[in-house]
Amino acid sequence: MLILLTNDDGIRAPGIAALYRALTQLGEVRVVAPETVQSATGHGITLTTPLLSQEVTVENAFTGTAVDGRPADCVKVAVSHLLPRPPDLVVSGINSGANVGINVLYSGTVAAAIEAAFLGLPAIAVSLLLRRDVPSDYDHAAAVALPTIRRLIDGGLKGGQVMNVNLPALPTGVQPKGVRLARQCTNVLVDTYEKRADPRGNPYFWNSTEFRLHGSDEGTDVSALRDGYVAVTPLTFDLTDDRELERMRGEAGGSEG
Ligand code: MN
Repeated sequence: MLILLTNDDGIRAPGIAALYRALTQLGEVRVVAPETVQSATGHGITLTTPLLSQEVTVENAFTGTAVDGRPADCVKVAVSHLLPRPPDLVVSGINSGANVGINVLYSGTVAAAIEAAFLGLPAIAVSLLLRRDVPSDYDHAAAVALPTIRRLIDGGLKGGQVMNVNLPALPTGVQPKGVRLARQCTNVLVDTYEKRADPRGNPYFWNSTEFRLHGSDEGTDVSALRDGYVAVTPLTFDLTDDRELERMRGEAGGSEG
């Protein structure tokens, strides 16, 4: 099995090295990942500047290709040029920080997986919840993620499908309570910006949002993580509001045709 591995934290991030080491148990792994940190860049792609690329060796892990672009760029360039054949699976992660709730829509990690689905490939995004009181151990997180990834593959993950996997914050050696299938929480974040002044007295603003979602989140990816479970959410990229579409069609009353 040929696996394309990417992320949004950059090719030198600890999460991608740990996931590389774990995924080699499943097959041949090729890394094509952003040159620089691309967190919260969503599904952006690069159109007006060149995508510079270079070989990068990460100690105790891999020699891969860094692309100076967005996560989605990496998937496009990997599939169209860098890999010998279309990969059997695309994995994105392990992201430093959970990608649950509406953060899924800001996430470059998830965008890379969705890009793979656009290209007709099966894709899995993997993210790790960070907590100040739990030192992050990416090798342990990768070991926890591996059986879930394996189960998704064995369960018949198809081309064009995207699975969003989030791992709870776990001290080294501690196992999650289990795996929970969960829908994406749609509660909004409460944004905060700090207003400061530059050396010349001009104001600037710095996002200081604590990425906590507000409101009831029962049965969602957010509560699964909080309860100490691995959260698995199948995602779609069809943003159609089906209920509203039906209502509008009903209102049009068949006059359209
Ligand atoms: Mn990130």
